[in-house]
Parts: sequence; structure tokens; C-alpha cells
Amino acid sequence: LAKTGTRNSFQFYVASVDQEMRARKKLEKDLNIALQKNQFYLVYQPQVNLETGRVIGAEALIRWQHPERGLVPPDDFIPLAELNGRIVPIGEWVLDQACRQAAEWADQGTPLRIAVNLSAVQLRQDTIVDTVLSTLVRHQIPPGRLELEVTETSVMTNLEDAIGKLQQFKREGIQIAVDDFGTGYSSLTYLKRMPVQHLKIDKQFVRDLLVNEEDTRIANTIIDLGKSLNLSVIAEGVETAEQEYYLQQRGCQLAQGYYFSKPLPAGEFQSFVAKFHGKMAESNG
Ligand code: C2E
Ligand code: MG
Ligand code: MG
Ligand code: MG
Repeated sequence: LAKTGTRNSFQFYVASVDQEMRARKKLEKDLNIALQKNQFYLVYQPQVNLETGRVIGAEALIRWQHPERGLVPPDDFIPLAELNGRIVPIGEWVLDQACRQAAEWADQGTPLRIAVNLSAVQLRQDTIVDTVLSTLVRHQIPPGRLELEVTETSVMTNLEDAIGKLQQFKREGIQIAVDDFGTGYSSLTYLKRMPVQHLKIDKQFVRDLLVNEEDTRIANTIIDLGKSLNLSVIAEGVETAEQEYYLQQRGCQLAQGYYFSKPLPAGEFQSFVAKFHGKMAESNG
């Protein structure tokens, strides 16, 4: 504040900070009623097995249709919801909705694995394991059909407790993926102790794959790490045929990204899968 120069620019600065604060407060207020106003919905991004070319699952991603602002991206409201605790009921809603959808797809002949992002705040709840298990029972989803995505950081900041919960999930047969792998504070010692089955290569390393040598090496390292720890590796943010080909050749098993599909509304998902598999059959035969 001291370095803003003239008196006018100082006032201008204060005014804009004030405005920002007010906008933030308003967003927070709106966020607190968004659930009861049915303003959230989920979209689903296909996850593809690179060896078989089949869609094996979907990541559920939340969307907020704000009455005045339009679509608010999760990166703009999830951190806020984590700070004020709203992420707990919102996260429960996501889990319920995603499992309901997975059950519906299974009923219609498309059994898929569903991946749900779990916030650090949710993972810290004492009731989280029960919440997840009762949601699976409610929708009659086999535990192996659910994957929970956690970040390294959310596990590390609460290590013993988090590992205990991940172990309970594992015992029940629920799969765990480490999301945004390589961007948090990773430690190989802890990774070894974490009961997880999948590593997700963050999209920041995939974006310039084959263009940026360092990113390529980082992606390679994660794939090799997966091999040595016997974890499957999924690349996120795959946008080009070149990236897909490289990852597949390099031994990365799974991928998701705009190259295959953007996250889709539930109603479009199955027809996408049918078309995608149809194309595959064509190009194979
Ligand atoms: P994430 O879990 O790492 O999800 C991947 C993000 O990459 C998604 O952004 C997805 O739409 C985007 N993406 C997928 N393919 C591509 C691609 O080819 N290129 C590019 N540039 N982007 C791609 P989205 O949906 O905006 O979500 C952002 C983040 O918000 C997520 O990152 C996750 O951390 C958080 N999030 C989303 N939904 C939920 C939720 O239900 N609960 C919680 N706790 N967090 C969520
Ligand atoms: Mg994720
Ligand atoms: Mg991710
Ligand atoms: Mg990410």
C-alpha cells in the first residue's frame, strides 16, 4: 500500500481492493445457497484405456450455473468452499450425484468406473469413510467401480489420519488416485506409504509434451515411477494425437483430455461412448 505513489492512485487501489472484497463476499453468499437452489450440475470426462482404445470410466467434474454470472469454473469457487466448509455438503452432493449416474449407466448396459475429486477438507472429516460407503450402498455401486482422487498435498498435510482413511477405502475395494501428481509436495517415501493404485500426470506436464524437454522427462519419470511402484498411470489434459501416441508408446495406460472429449453432460455421455467405440472398431477392422 505504501508504494502506490500519488494520493489518487492510493485511493484507487484501496477502492479496488474494497470492491474485490465485496465481490468475494457476494460470491461466498451465493455459494452458500447454490446447493439448495439446484445451481450445481456434474459433467463427465471420459477416461480411455490407451492399449484397448476403450472408455473405461469417467471423471465427474462440478459446474456452477450462477444466475447472474453464468458458469463459474470450479477453480473459482472450490477454494472458497474449502475455506468456509461448504465443500463438505457440496462434496457429498457430488458423490451422491456421480454414484446415481454410474448406477443409471450400469442399468443401461454401460458399467463404468466413476472418479470423484475429494477435497482435503472432506478427507479430514471423521465421517468421510462412512459417507462414501453409505453412498455406494444407496446406489448399489460395487466399491471397485468408484475411484477417489486426492492430491498429494491433501494427504501430506494430515498424513497419519489421511493414510488411515485411505487404507479403509482400500480395504473396502475403493480405488484411490493421486491427482495433479508432481505439482504438490511429493515425497517418494510417503508415496510408498500411501495406499493408492493410480497416479494422474497433471495436465501442465502434458500440455507441452514432446515440445518441452523437461515436461517430457517429467512425464516419463512419472510413468516409470508408476511401473516401479506397480501403480497405473493416467495422463490428464491430452489434446493431440501426438501426445496420445507418445504416452501410449511410453507405457502410460490411461488418458483423458480434449483430444478424446471435453467433460460431457450426463445425457451425452453414452452416445459419445457408442460413437467412440464404433470409430475404434472401424479403424481396427
Ligand atoms: P482436476 O481434478 O485436475 O480436473 C482436471 C481439469 O482439467 C478439469 O478442469 C478438466 O475440465 C480439465 N481438462 C480436461 N481435459 C483437458 C484438456 O485436454 N485441456 C485442458 N486445458 N484442460 C482439460 P475443471 O473441470 O475446470 O476443474 C478444475 C479443478 O477443480 C479440478 O482439477 C479439481 O481440482 C476441481 N474440481 C472439479 N470438480 C470438483 C469436485 O466435484 N470436487 C472437488 N473437490 N474439486 C473439484
Ligand atoms: Mg481430478
Ligand atoms: Mg488433475
Ligand atoms: Mg488439475
